[in-house]
Amino acid sequence: MEDIETLKVQLATSLQRQKELEHQLALIPQQMEESAARLTMAMESVQMGTWDYKPQIDELIWSNQCRKIYGISPEEKVTFDLFINNIHEEDKIFVMQEIEKALHSPDNGLYDVTFRILRFDDGEPRWIRSQGKVYFKEQKAEHFIGTIIDITDHKLAQEKSARLVAIIETSDDAIISKTLDGIITSWNESAKRTFGYTEDEIIGQSILRLIPPDRQDEEPHILSRLRRGERVEHFETKRMTKDGRLLDVSLTISPVINTEGKIIGLSKIARDITERKQEELRKNDFIAMVSHELKTPLTSMKSYLQVLLAKAKKEGDEFTINALTRADVQAKKMTVMIQDFLSLARLEEGKISLHKEIFTLHPVIEETASDAQYLSSNHNIVLQDCEDITLYADRDKIGQILMNLLSNAIKYSPKGGTIIIGCEKQPGKVKIYVRDEGVGISETDQKRLFERFYRSKNEKIKTVSGFGIGLYLVSEILRYHNSHIEVESEEGVGSVFYFSLNTEAN
Ligand code: ADP
Repeated sequence: MEDIETLKVQLATSLQRQKELEHQLALIPQQMEESAARLTMAMESVQMGTWDYKPQIDELIWSNQCRKIYGISPEEKVTFDLFINNIHEEDKIFVMQEIEKALHSPDNGLYDVTFRILRFDDGEPRWIRSQGKVYFKEQKAEHFIGTIIDITDHKLAQEKSARLVAIIETSDDAIISKTLDGIITSWNESAKRTFGYTEDEIIGQSILRLIPPDRQDEEPHILSRLRRGERVEHFETKRMTKDGRLLDVSLTISPVINTEGKIIGLSKIARDITERKQEELRKNDFIAMVSHELKTPLTSMKSYLQVLLAKAKKEGDEFTINALTRADVQAKKMTVMIQDFLSLARLEEGKISLHKEIFTLHPVIEETASDAQYLSSNHNIVLQDCEDITLYADRDKIGQILMNLLSNAIKYSPKGGTIIIGCEKQPGKVKIYVRDEGVGISETDQKRLFERFYRSKNEKIKTVSGFGIGLYLVSEILRYHNSHIEVESEEGVGSVFYFSLNTEAN
């Protein structure tokens, strides 16, 4: 009895299992369909085409995506010969060899080639990668299937970056890239030569390793400018090599911006200018030495001239008075030139220092104007509204600025005329200006006037002598006073140069 019951239960269980199996079997075609659909979707999303070749009956089938890559319509028949015909001439033999290899190696049968095709529709060359596998039956290649993908964009990007890498590696400048936190991410050959660190030693390290201890605060300052998307160009500073040597470098730093416009890092070009700096230093030393040597004999010449002038005046010798006055004017011009050269040399060495004091402006203007008036009887120098102004500045250097502006006003007004040196009082400040009725300055020249050694190309004044350092000094001295020089000018009408200075000590 019990046995029959057991048998019944066993029968029921196996019937149940059979049902389940039938159900699962029924699901298989649907599952296969789903996986095939998933595969097609995945391939379409990466724009991958498929091909299917039966060597024994020479039949080739291309999927729609494959046809799109080749630029051939879905209806057109494709053959193996057609496929071979449209391979780029330079790659044809290599591809045929690879196919042969795959078709004749039953133990492997794998195929993976990158080559150029010529599209059927427009003949445009494209780079493609094709991967496949040969299936064998009784050692004979029966079925060869695979995929293709258009990798032209990737290939071009690869070529472009290879070209850039070659340029970077052969550059004479050190080219370094770093993250926004200052971690070095790339380092070229020249960086290695300049700073002494190999790529392995420095990548992943902080850029602070290259910055001398007394300049470490430069980095946050530069970073804040770059974060705003600005470029920092030709910034002259010092950097440190692996063995602790200090180098003079000129830095150009730019933000690296991704396609979404986000700053993802920084690139830095460092040029070693140590040699150039030393050369400049030698030149400056020379200029300073020569100017200094010239000053002593000139001072004694000037005092003899004064003595002689006083004697001639006493004797009422008009001819001698005239000749000595002219000699004195020339000596004054020379003094100004020498003073400018000395200032230039000091400035370049960063040795210029201000001796600020509180002083009344009017006497300085009067003195300078009367000295300048000496230089020309053709011009009339007029003072305007400069009384009762007290400045806190370097008196001698302000005198030097005014002398430069007045002598330029004379030099560049060959026809003479009135020159006004005037003041305009403003709260806590005074604006000082020098106006002339001279040749004027073109707009292009106005932009470059304050550069060292810059002289305008105006034909009318080509015989006027000068070195192009006067206005550079004016602008530098004003920069030291936290001010700046400005110009307004019209050719053939005249120019006005002006600047502002604080009237209170602050
Ligand atoms: P320099 O007078 O020795 O050439 P500066 O630096 O003083 O050098 O002046 C630079 C140039 O600016 C001059 O060569 C001249 O062309 C122009 N310039 C300066 N001042 C005037 C002015 N008042 N009127 C016209 N041009 C001027």
